[in-house]
Amino acid sequence: MLIRFWYIPSLVFIVIFLHFAAVITQFYEFQIRSGFVWWDNVLHALVGVTFGLAWLWFIQVMGWNLSPRLMTISTISVVVALAILWEVAELALLLIAPDIAHSLQMYSTSISEATVDSLSNLLGVVGLVWFIGRKKHKYAFIDRDGTIIWEPEKPEGVDPRETFPLQSADQVQFMDGAIEGLKALQDEGYKLVLVTNQSFLGTPKHPQKVFDQVMERMHSDLAKHGIKFEFEMICPHGPDDGCECRKPKTGGLKEFLAARPADLANSLMFGDRATDGEFAKNLGVRFVKIETNKSFKLPQDI
Ligand SMILES: [Mg+2]
Ligand SMILES: [Zn+2]
Repeated sequence: MLIRFWYIPSLVFIVIFLHFAAVITQFYEFQIRSGFVWWDNVLHALVGVTFGLAWLWFIQVMGWNLSPRLMTISTISVVVALAILWEVAELALLLIAPDIAHSLQMYSTSISEATVDSLSNLLGVVGLVWFIGRKKHKYAFIDRDGTIIWEPEKPEGVDPRETFPLQSADQVQFMDGAIEGLKALQDEGYKLVLVTNQSFLGTPKHPQKVFDQVMERMHSDLAKHGIKFEFEMICPHGPDDGCECRKPKTGGLKEFLAARPADLANSLMFGDRATDGEFAKNLGVRFVKIETNKSFKLPQDI
């Protein structure tokens, strides 16, 4: 999920608004008298959501590539730690300067109230993480060679199953419209996933080092435009290795999609080969055919 900057101020605004609405209508007073403080706990849950979003946004800004699991654990931990610190500060203020604490409408007057408040924060952030976890994303799966960057042509008369990879990072050349197209997809809310067969990667025919340099160049060129792949499925095997990750098979995406489910009906696959089309079919997403080494065009309706 893309955490947009305005999510956080909006939630802060809602929390403050609800807080003052409660103060003005003397809702708190009523609740304190009646010994019932659910309103306060709703606010704490919202604070938990806000802090959680702020943390996720921070991860995004820093460009950290955390696994979904680490993302969940860190989000919950950070929010709970902040909540506990906050409650401790409230209790401390109440001890040191009770007048100020009362004028600020702080009502954690005991450890048990502070605990309930922290638990409300926890509930909020767990709700947030759960919501994000079950949210399905629309993806744009993107083939690399011949689709977004130039692919060396195969010499005549050689085995078509052989590989002719780029020989150096200097050969990285984006197709017309590729950068604009990827950017537009990203702006439309598609998460970009690279899916590429790199036959015999890591063998003398296709050295890992050259491949890494090519990828590094491609990443840095894309990063200049704020374009980032959420995940990269790179099959290093040959056509006869019988692996599960070589397109048109979809095994290379299994783990990724289990952790971040796809909204298949609204996802797309861009590629230049028949195998890309088959891959799209196997995955259950719409295929957008790109002409090899020509230009990267988005369909009319995107
Ligand atoms: Mg291709
Ligand atoms: Zn493979």
